[in-house]
Amino acid sequence: MKFPSRRSMAMVLSATALGTVLMSPAFAQTVNITILGIGDIYNFAEEDGRGGMARLNAVARAERANNPNMIYVFDGDMLSPSILSGFDKGQNMIDLANIVPFDIAVPGNHEFDFGTDNFLEKVAASNFPWAAVNITNADGSPVDGLGGTMMKEFEGISVALVPLAQDTTPEVTSSGDLIFLGTVETGIAAANAAREAGADIVIGVVQTDQSNDRLLISSGAFDVIMSGDDHSYATSYDGRTAYVETSIDGRFLSPVDLIVTIGEKRGERDVTWVPNFRFIDTANVEPDPESQVLVDAFQTQLDESLNIEIGATTGALDSRRNVVRGEESAMGNLIADALRWATGADVALANGGGIRADRTYDAGMVLTRRDILTELPFGNATVLTELPGSQILAALENGVSRVEDGSGRFPQVSGMSYVYDPSAPAGSRIVMVMIGDAELDLNKVYSLATNDFVLGGGDGYSALGGGNVLINTGNGNLMANDVIDYVIELGGIHSVVEGRIKTVGNN
Ligand SMILES: [Zn+2]
Repeated sequence: MKFPSRRSMAMVLSATALGTVLMSPAFAQTVNITILGIGDIYNFAEEDGRGGMARLNAVARAERANNPNMIYVFDGDMLSPSILSGFDKGQNMIDLANIVPFDIAVPGNHEFDFGTDNFLEKVAASNFPWAAVNITNADGSPVDGLGGTMMKEFEGISVALVPLAQDTTPEVTSSGDLIFLGTVETGIAAANAAREAGADIVIGVVQTDQSNDRLLISSGAFDVIMSGDDHSYATSYDGRTAYVETSIDGRFLSPVDLIVTIGEKRGERDVTWVPNFRFIDTANVEPDPESQVLVDAFQTQLDESLNIEIGATTGALDSRRNVVRGEESAMGNLIADALRWATGADVALANGGGIRADRTYDAGMVLTRRDILTELPFGNATVLTELPGSQILAALENGVSRVEDGSGRFPQVSGMSYVYDPSAPAGSRIVMVMIGDAELDLNKVYSLATNDFVLGGGDGYSALGGGNVLINTGNGNLMANDVIDYVIELGGIHSVVEGRIKTVGNN
């Protein structure tokens, strides 16, 4: 910081001969503080030899050994979503994080996917403190077990950690009665308060999207911001604020060394610093052996959990390639219904090409978690958007535009039905669309659930873009977990082919 805070000045004024010696330029003191940030870790295991908790723990352990002035922060999202977390509600991530504990952890939106009680249970099970300056109980009182700004001292340098959650959390997950105060204004106020209280360095630990990050940076209230939520890796420094967007699943890490100098300016204590960003591709990191033992155990547990039965199907199911890509399928109906159930959407659309097991199930057969994961192997997220009927019509036109080629875009649907003419030219095949019992209104806005691949324009679905996205990729559940939960909720599978999709001539 450029200007000494009130407290640093007071310290100088009250300093004795020793202080005078320390403050003289010839004795300017340098302190190296390392900050390692991570967030959005969903999978305990590595993926393609990169990321995962064993590699993350190895890096954190090494950084801590290398510099006692090390701050290890978690900027949100670990309890969900993953296949194992769908089963153990995130305990696997807590157990692994406990091996090399964070100094502070801020809850991301996904921390509340299994409800507030589960989050607070996991907080209690953590060997590290959770905190957020902008989460309160409904009556405004602090949440038990959740801290606020944390002050740390390193060789005379006072550092404030300001933990900040995303204020849209209640809209995208199950945070119950908890109140999320405005991310940007509450964060800036807390940073300013920390500065007033004497912090030399103010570090934001934030689970916020990049538009909020930019506002936090431009406020100048923070020296360093470690940010999650966007699933991307980035660093920046504008001469005032050092910034790291902390990647996903621990794939890429960027420890920041702050080279802090305590000097003197016009007779007053003067703290300055420069950031030194390092880059670690975890593909080059040897996994932490202690953590790897636990990772292997969780891999076994995951494998066993997939054999767990979730419910019997009353009718036959069909996910053969030509069926899910060419006609209404009971498996397609199950998946689309689960998307709609999980989001409360008016309608849902599942691309047939995303349904992969290519098999049949006899009536009475009991399905396991593995069966659903085999049908939906891509790890796609359930998303929700709002669109006018005209765009839903355009999406359906895209969906049936290449049905003669067996294209994966073929739309399995829920909450709606449609009739199409496969012999008409592509782009004008849809003959009729019903939303529930009413005809599609081109001007009416509907909520539509689908997966993140389709919403992102995959399989030609650009018509679904540009709407008001209520649940995006970063906020969505795993689609496979939604289907598993739906089957458990219903106590079985009752999906049948019931006339949701018809062709001209057989309607
Ligand atoms: Zn998030």
